Amino acid sequence: MVRIRLEHIDKVFGKKGREFKALDDISFEIEDNSFFGILGASGAGKTTIMRIIAGLETPTRGAIYFNDQVAASDGKDIIPVEDRNVGMVFQNWALYPHMTNYENIAFPLKSKHWSPEDIHRRITELARVLEISETLEKRPGEISGGQQQRVALARALAKNPSLLLLDEPFSNLDANRRDDARSLVRRVQEEYGITAVIVSHDPSDIFSLARKVAVIHSGRLIQIDTPGEIYDRPRNVRVAGSLGEINLLRGSTSLDGERLVIRVADARIPVPVAASDETWDREVTVGIRPEDLATENDVTNLGGSSEMVKFGTFEVDASNYVHGSFVVSMKVGEERLNVLSRLPVSPGSRLTVYVNASKIKLFDAQ
Ligand code: ADP
Ligand code: MG
Repeated sequence: MVRIRLEHIDKVFGKKGREFKALDDISFEIEDNSFFGILGASGAGKTTIMRIIAGLETPTRGAIYFNDQVAASDGKDIIPVEDRNVGMVFQNWALYPHMTNYENIAFPLKSKHWSPEDIHRRITELARVLEISETLEKRPGEISGGQQQRVALARALAKNPSLLLLDEPFSNLDANRRDDARSLVRRVQEEYGITAVIVSHDPSDIFSLARKVAVIHSGRLIQIDTPGEIYDRPRNVRVAGSLGEINLLRGSTSLDGERLVIRVADARIPVPVAASDETWDREVTVGIRPEDLATENDVTNLGGSSEMVKFGTFEVDASNYVHGSFVVSMKVGEERLNVLSRLPVSPGSRLTVYVNASKIKLFDAQ
C-alpha cells in the first residue's frame, strides 16, 4: 500500500570529531505491495535503515519518500513517526511483560483512541489469522517463543499499517520453528497486501521471503537484485560468502578458441565464453558452491547434465556427514575443495570431481 524510495541516504552518529558514518550513500526503491529484504552482517547498518524508514531516526543527508511524498530530507523529518503508518517487529519482540497479550496488541490502538468495541473486533480477527486466540488473556512470559513472536506480529499489524518492518524477527526462535514463522509472515503479507521489509544476517530469512534483496556491508549498498540473481551472480567474494558455503580458489583464465579456460592448480576447466568476459588473461578467484560439484560416484545421478564437466582428480582429506549428505574435503594444489557427496569416501583415496560449468563464479583475484 506504499512505495518507499531512499535517495543517497547517509547517517552519521556521534559528535564532531568522534563521528561514525553508519550509512554511506544508500539508495533503493521498495515497490508497493512487495516483500523487500536487506541482508548484511551484524553492524552493517540494517537496523539504522529500518529506523530511518520508520521515522525513529533522521538521515544526516539524502531523502526518503513514501509514495511521492518526502518523509525526510537533508537532516529534517517531514512526516513524523506517527503519520508514517508503519508496523514494526523487533528482534526481541519488545512485548510489555506486565500486560496480557490482549493488552499488548491493543496498546497501539488505544494510543490512536480506538473504541473498545473496534479494538475487540480487530484483535479477534488478528488472533484468528495468527492462531493466538487461546493466548490472549495470558502474559508474554506464559507462552512459547513462537506464540510471543505472533503476538508481536499482531501488535505490528493492529492499526492496519501500510508498511511492515521486520528486524531479525526470527532470530530468537528455535531453528525448527523458523520455517513455520516464515510461512506465516509470507501468508500475512499476501493476505493483507502490505508492503513489507525484512532485515536479517541470515540468508534463509531473506531468501524465503523477499522478492528483491539489497546486500549491505559496512553501511554501503553492495548489490540489489532478485534472490536468484544474488545467489548465482554475487557481485563480489563477500556477497558470495554471506549467502552460504562457497569454495574460493586461486586461479587464472585464458582464451582457447571459443572457450574460456579456467585454471586452478593443475586443473583446467573449459567453459563457454560469456559476452561480458572482456578480459581473458587474468588472475581470478574462482568461486564454486559445493552443490555445484559432484564426485564421479554421483555425477551420473545428476541426469547426465551436459553442464557437468570434468574438473580433475584429487586426493580426499576428510569426509564429514552434514545435513543429510557427506562433505568431502579434497586437496587441490595448496587449496581445499569441499564437494557434496551422497556416499562417504575414504581419506587418502583419489576421486574425480565434476563441476557445473555454468555455475562457476569468477571474481577479481583476492
Ligand atoms: P545492524 O542492524 O546491521 O547490526 P546497526 O544499524 O544497528 O547495524 O548499526 C550500524 C552501525 O552503527 C554499528 O556500528 C553501530 O554500532 C552504529 N550505531 C547504531 N546506532 C548508533 C547510535 N545511536 N549511536 C552510535 N552508533 C550507532
Ligand atoms: Mg540490527
